[in-house]
Amino acid sequence: MKSGKEIRCSLCREPAVTRIAYAKLWLCKKHFIEFIEKRILETINRYRLAGRGQRILVAVSGGKDSITTLYMLHKASMEMGFKVIALHIDLGIGMYSKISRETVEHFCQSLRIPLITLDLKTLTGYSLPEFVHKTRRPPCSICGLLKRYLINVVAQEIKADAVALGHHLDDLLPYIFKNFILQNLFEISKLGPRTESENGLVGRIRPLYEVSEHEIALYAKLSNLPFVDEECPYAGKKNLDKQVKEFLNSLESLHPGIKISFARAVARNIHVYKALSTTKPLKKCMVCGAPSNDDICSFCKLTNRVAGKPLGAEVRLKIRDALSSLGLLE
Ligand code: SF4
Ligand code: ZN
Ligand code: ZN
Repeated sequence: MKSGKEIRCSLCREPAVTRIAYAKLWLCKKHFIEFIEKRILETINRYRLAGRGQRILVAVSGGKDSITTLYMLHKASMEMGFKVIALHIDLGIGMYSKISRETVEHFCQSLRIPLITLDLKTLTGYSLPEFVHKTRRPPCSICGLLKRYLINVVAQEIKADAVALGHHLDDLLPYIFKNFILQNLFEISKLGPRTESENGLVGRIRPLYEVSEHEIALYAKLSNLPFVDEECPYAGKKNLDKQVKEFLNSLESLHPGIKISFARAVARNIHVYKALSTTKPLKKCMVCGAPSNDDICSFCKLTNRVAGKPLGAEVRLKIRDALSSLGLLE
C-alpha cells in the first residue's frame, strides 16, 4: 500500500485489504469476500456446474482449494437445491495425512456435510508411500491414478451427477498452455470448467475455474476456513509447469484480466478441442468393470504389480459396504 495514507475500499471507504487489478478495485475484507463468492457463484451458474436435485461429490484433500470448493458448494446448494457429499481419501502419508483427515472431518461435522472417508491402506493393504516404494514410480503419478479411480468408484456408486474438484485458474491455465505448446489439443478439452460424464466416467466440475491461487488463499484466510497449510511432502513443481505459470503471471501483471479472458476463451472453445479426439471410446475393465482405455484398467494393473493380484473388484465391494453403512447407496 502507498506510504503515509491508508488505502480505502473502493466500495465503502473502510481500510482496503487487497487490490483486484483487473477490476480496478481496492477492497476491504467484507467486500473482498463478497467479490470472490459472487465470482464463484457466477461460475457455477455460467457453466451450469450444478442444478436442482443433483448430487455433487466434492473431493476434499483438506488444502485451501478443496476446502473453499466444498464451502462454496455447500453455500450454493442450499439456495440452488442440490446435494453436496464430501469425499476424503487418506493416503497414509504420515502426519500430513493425519492432519488433513482431521481437518476435513471437523470441517464437515461443523457444517453437517455428509463425509465419506476412504483409507487407502485399509482398502488395498498399502499406503501411498508403500505403493511408491514398491513401484519406484513418481509419487504424484501413482497418487493421481489411485485417487481418480477411487473417486470415480464412489461417484458411480452413489450416482453422483458430477465430481467437484478444487482446481483454480493457476492450476489449469499452465496445463492448458503447456498442452497448447505441445499441441496435445484434445487434452485441453479435459481442463475446462466442466467435463461431461461418459461411459462410466463421472463428469468433473471446477467451481474455482475463474479464481486465482492468490485470491483463494486470501479468501480462505479472511473467511477463517480451516485448511491444511502444509504441503504434501511429495509436492514439487516440474520446471516447465513452474515457468509457464510465472510467464502467465508476468503477462497478468502487464495486462490485468488476461488470465480470466484466456480461461473464458478456452471454455467457449472446449467443443472444438473435444472434436479433435483420436482416442477410442472407453471400454470396461474385465476385472472390475471400471471405465478403461485397455481391457484391464490402470488401477487393476497397478495393484496386480504391487499386491500380486488386481484389486479393483475387491476394493469396489469394500467401498460399497462403507457407503451402505453411511446410508449413501440408492
Ligand atoms: Fe498426491 Fe502428489 Fe498431491 Fe501429494 S503432491 S497429494 S503425492 S498428487
Ligand atoms: Zn468495502
Ligand atoms: Zn479394473
